[in-house]
Amino acid sequence: MNLQKLSIAIAAIFLLSFIPPDKKRKFIDPANMDFTIKPGDNFYVYANGTWIRKNPVPASKTRWGAFGIIAEDNTTRLHQLMKEEANKTTPDKFKKIGDYYVSGMDSLAIERRGYQPLIPHLERINNVKTVDDILNEMVYERVNGVGATSPIGIFVAQDRKNATKYIPQMGQGGITLPDRDYYLKNDQRFVNIRSEFIANMVNMFKLTGRTDAEATRNAWAVMRIETALAKAQMPRVEMRDPYKTYNKYSWKDLSSTTPSIDWKNLAEKLMIRGADSVIVSNPSFLKSVDLLLGAVSTDDWKAYMQWHIIESAAPYLSSAFVEQNFKFNKVLTGQKQMSPRWQRVSGIIDNSMGDLLGEMYVTKYFTPEAKKRMLDLVNNLQQTFADRIKQLDWMSDATKQKALEKLNAFTKKIGYTDKWRDYTSVAIAKDDYLGNRQRLGKWAYDENVNRLGKPIDKTLWGFTPPTVNASYNSSNNEITFPAGILQFPFFDFEADDAVNYGGIGVVIGHEMTHGFDDQGRLSDPQGNLTDWWTKEDADKFKTRSNAVADLYSGFTVQDSLHLNGRLTLGENLADLGGINIAYEAFTKTQQFKEGKKIDGFTPAQRFFLGFAQVWRENILPEEAAQRVLTDPHSPGSYRVNGPLPNIDAWYNAFDVKPGEKLYKSPDQRIKIW
Ligand SMILES: [Zn+2]
Repeated sequence: MNLQKLSIAIAAIFLLSFIPPDKKRKFIDPANMDFTIKPGDNFYVYANGTWIRKNPVPASKTRWGAFGIIAEDNTTRLHQLMKEEANKTTPDKFKKIGDYYVSGMDSLAIERRGYQPLIPHLERINNVKTVDDILNEMVYERVNGVGATSPIGIFVAQDRKNATKYIPQMGQGGITLPDRDYYLKNDQRFVNIRSEFIANMVNMFKLTGRTDAEATRNAWAVMRIETALAKAQMPRVEMRDPYKTYNKYSWKDLSSTTPSIDWKNLAEKLMIRGADSVIVSNPSFLKSVDLLLGAVSTDDWKAYMQWHIIESAAPYLSSAFVEQNFKFNKVLTGQKQMSPRWQRVSGIIDNSMGDLLGEMYVTKYFTPEAKKRMLDLVNNLQQTFADRIKQLDWMSDATKQKALEKLNAFTKKIGYTDKWRDYTSVAIAKDDYLGNRQRLGKWAYDENVNRLGKPIDKTLWGFTPPTVNASYNSSNNEITFPAGILQFPFFDFEADDAVNYGGIGVVIGHEMTHGFDDQGRLSDPQGNLTDWWTKEDADKFKTRSNAVADLYSGFTVQDSLHLNGRLTLGENLADLGGINIAYEAFTKTQQFKEGKKIDGFTPAQRFFLGFAQVWRENILPEEAAQRVLTDPHSPGSYRVNGPLPNIDAWYNAFDVKPGEKLYKSPDQRIKIW
């Protein structure tokens, strides 16, 4: 050992002994805060200001915060697992993950094939001649997992008025841009995006061998059809109404509204068998599609179908397609750099074969102890929520009784599914990335339509295990917390209760409150759309929730871009309820009762700071503008500064005084759950 190496070794030992062990890590780190701002003026910046300044959005992302950071770590873990699997010499039960990964990473082979894998699909579409051919082609592509070329989405899901039964459902769709407004509004931003969209389609069509003139003609054909579809679509806010979007038809009655489409016959071809009726979210959209089928030329419909095949396949094709796709995505979201191939491949595999990959993930990264601790937290919060309902001053005993029944009936899903999906029947080839995706698409389609006529499978999960998210499902009256979110800053075994209650505790309270938000309150303990409210209580709820909608509509994102308080209402109600419930549950803990300061903060302060750090983020302006129209969640800053001024305990914790910017007098504070 030479001297230099020896000194490095000593330095390493020296450093190690001085690196604080993980448990001494600061779960509320004053270095992330901004003490030049008063908590009562802007709590979000007070809690997160320095972190926000020091953590700009990385070039390959469009926003950056707690969710993205955990997701990135999870992706790195998934990548490691997939790589190890691909390198195994003796095949095991996860072999398909390794093979799928190889197919996605073999960029040379993908490059060599160019758009060859698309050719049979494009040619089949070229042979289309009649309206019936168009419909048959759309069915073929859907059933075979090729892509969604039909403007009408068809799937099987629980009947919202009879949650014990599956029923076919139809939704509106068919547009490429993120929302109907992109086609219909004439702000400069949308005008630019539309012209870039045309340019994108022209380039993509040219990449599949079309001439300039053909590509341009096709692009405008797609634009015309999608604009007509956008006009026919119901706006997002209206789509949130579970009654308005519940329109049950027999196949025969539905067919009488759409002369070109015989739905019974089409359902048969779609392998949707044994159902006599269907729920349609927007019946007038179906009528418009029917009219368009007759009014638009077959050539235009061919261009439309080909576009959707090309667009959905682009991420799996050669670099020319991937780069063109990214170039347009950049216009929409502002993302500067493409993420590395391994990240894109990880995302695609998680998305399409997530249960097999998820089984590998939880085996290594999720413990029964975490599940147990989480279940304890959920139970504590459920108890506290029950106490709060009993004490509500605006609700009658009759409605309270029903609300408590619903709350007590929650199903709790934590970590991962009890029953992994089985991909045994899907062929995964090391040299067929797009084909793998399509076969998995077909598998997923079959799995979905085969639910018809069977009992409700409550073991199904909508999330894969590494997902950094949580949910409430009204038809099953269930709350779900995948393993992926059970990490700092949401949850950490070593963190004090204040931080865990402010983090995952608020998330749990948020999901529970969804069962009682403006949509969730409309379904009963069994998951059926049923009005269990007295008229008077329902009116009081509406008055209070309208105040929340107005509050958020008053917030701006950039310049004059206002949040849509109606689009985000359910989420904002859930945020407000979630903090109240989690805080009250926290006041029952030893830490709160002892009241000892840690790193200079009281337990109550740590709770609110822990909550605020979950929502710290930076976001690109393009991404933010897109989300204002499409995302039912408010931006991070308003998820903090929106609800807190309505919570008395926050005023006490930080001594917030009249005159400070977030201050509201006690009678202005909105109280619901
Ligand atoms: Zn939510």
